[in-house]
Amino acid sequence: MSTNSGIRTVLIAGASIAGPTLAYWLTRYGFEVTVVEKSPTFRVDGHSVDVSGPTIAIAEKMGILDLARSYNVDIRKVSFVDGEGEPVGMIDIEAISGGDTSTDIEIPRRELVGAIVEVTGDAAEWIYDDSVVAIDNRADAAEVTFSSGIRRSFDLVVGADGVRSRTRRLAMDPAGDAVQYLGYTFALYSMPNFLGLEHENRSWNIPGKMAVMLPTESDTHLHAMLAFATPEPPAEIFGTREEAYALFAEQFAGYGWEIPRFLEELRTSDDSYYDSANYVASPQWSTGRVALVGDAGYGPSLFTGQGSTMAMIGAYILAGELARGADLESALASYDALLRPFVEATQAGIEGMVFQLAPRSEGDLAARNAAISDPAIMAAMHDQRPAPASITLPDYSELQAEHAAQAH
Ligand SMILES: Cc1cc2nc3c(=O)[nH]c(=O)nc-3n(C[C@H](O)[C@H](O)[C@H](O)COP(=O)(O)OP(=O)(O)OC[C@H]3O[C@@H](n4cnc5c(N)ncnc54)[C@H](O)[C@@H]3O)c2cc1C
Repeated sequence: MSTNSGIRTVLIAGASIAGPTLAYWLTRYGFEVTVVEKSPTFRVDGHSVDVSGPTIAIAEKMGILDLARSYNVDIRKVSFVDGEGEPVGMIDIEAISGGDTSTDIEIPRRELVGAIVEVTGDAAEWIYDDSVVAIDNRADAAEVTFSSGIRRSFDLVVGADGVRSRTRRLAMDPAGDAVQYLGYTFALYSMPNFLGLEHENRSWNIPGKMAVMLPTESDTHLHAMLAFATPEPPAEIFGTREEAYALFAEQFAGYGWEIPRFLEELRTSDDSYYDSANYVASPQWSTGRVALVGDAGYGPSLFTGQGSTMAMIGAYILAGELARGADLESALASYDALLRPFVEATQAGIEGMVFQLAPRSEGDLAARNAAISDPAIMAAMHDQRPAPASITLPDYSELQAEHAAQAH
């Protein structure tokens, strides 16, 4: 079948959240889709991710909403302690949102990725342990060379390969200029829930440093995060686990509260993940026969908690516009026009989230602590989250019905 935009075959690089969501919708509209993932299986690491605002409706259309709700981590309060572990404030999430899972779900990343891959199923071709190394972006086709040496031709290649997207670098950003470092470096890992926290996210802050305990779907273990401010991403986080751990041990040496326990758990962890905090501000999301979706084009950083939400919305819109567009160029232009205001509104809030979660100076920390003690300020900040306000999902249901009718 040839679609309205004139394309039939699509290669998607990356099987996390953006890639499989795009594969799901494109296959529903009759495209022939191949997904290539560099890891041997889809990535199961990571903490909880957000399914919020319009993404709830997308999850429902995909038939994964009940499952997402069943894994909801259900954070009811976010508490903050000072350098010595003394309480400095608490945000009562339940009082603000009423624990409403119709607008906000926190789900372990592996469960969300697994559900999307499963619901897409054999409708797409899945290639693991391989990746794109070269793209000849021609007028008539995109000729792709894989790291396995195989060469194949597609009508469109979509990079869903994350913040450091190789697809983006190959096609439109050779120097990686789109990646904006936020001045923080972090470690994520699991640890036992040794304080017995219930539905609570607890955060320790001193200027430029944070340690966070995040609840999981289980009562017995937590996700932990250590982060510190540093002007450049340190080389050690891209080295061995021992090198990365040594850097964090040095940065957090001598502090009070449960910091020694955080370090000990990090030292012995088998699921630690080190990275710098970045967002992606790409002035273009497509060129010729190459496009970007999710973090590869507009990753909003860990601080916003909106990466998965934006990835699913972006994938849903890109698929719909490709299916209904008059030609590839106009379909990609509509994708950009429909999504960019939402991306810009979300990204405009990043510095505010850094201020709230990881204040850099004594002055910022004092101001943050004053703000979190005021329920009216917190409720206003929650209501002003850009996600629900700045986008209305287009309705593409007639496209799916059209394809189903043609297939019979
Ligand atoms: C390991 C990991 C852990 C994360 N943990 C959290 C978390 O705890 N909390 C949170 O809010 N967000 C987390 N994120 C980010 C979150 O998943 C994204 O912000 C969001 O879901 C958007 O996802 P994405 O599909 O656009 O990109 P990503 O989730 O970054 O996925 C990109 C995928 O592309 C694959 N890939 C990369 N390069 C290539 C290549 N050259 N060829 C083929 N495949 C490639 C990667 O292996 C990965 O599967 C994590 C991301 C990763 C990769």
